[in-house]
Amino acid sequence: MLLAEQRRLLCEYGRRVVGTGLVLGTSGNLSVRAGDLVAVTPAGGALDRLEPESCPVVDVEGHLVDGDLQPSSETPMHLAVYASADVRAVVHTHSTFGTVVATTMTELPPIHYNTLLLGGIVRVADYATYGTPELAANVRAALDGRRAALLANHGGVTVGDDLEAAFEAARLLEWLCEVYVRARSVGEPRVLTEEQLAEVVHRSRNPPRFPRREG
Ligand SMILES: [Zn+2]
Repeated sequence: MLLAEQRRLLCEYGRRVVGTGLVLGTSGNLSVRAGDLVAVTPAGGALDRLEPESCPVVDVEGHLVDGDLQPSSETPMHLAVYASADVRAVVHTHSTFGTVVATTMTELPPIHYNTLLLGGIVRVADYATYGTPELAANVRAALDGRRAALLANHGGVTVGDDLEAAFEAARLLEWLCEVYVRARSVGEPRVLTEEQLAEVVHRSRNPPRFPRREG
């Protein structure tokens, strides 16, 4: 079977995105790239009940190469991401807190330094109808230099060098959005300054070294 391992991974991570509450049923899609081919979850399929053969394979231009089912309607968005960034996996969800932020904000304010693990302040892509080239272009612009973006009134998308990395980015994005939303319910969250974020980057590049005890 073409891209057998990638299609097996889509089934595994399909179960994980549902199991961790990032996706309800069919409201999300995943893909993995290998060379000029992309294995993607099918249109309308519950992500926790996928079989490898139910995951279509398309080429980077969007032609169906293998599989009986149609690819996810958001496949143009996945292909736009692969065309513009050197990544190997894309995860798109309608996770609850990500969608709350995407419905109310133009970016996720950096109130926690782990924002930097996603490449910087997470932008919200302008709204466009799902599945359209316009949405794909908006997402591509919002993802520039980032591992994550939110989609206005829709959800979130994350990328990675493999499906594990894109999945972990999706979990982190949802956690950051949940912290922000919950913080707003208590008071006005303090936002980290550019200087504070730059200091975090400096710190991560220069970790403390602990000398070994002699004797
Ligand atoms: Zn969607």
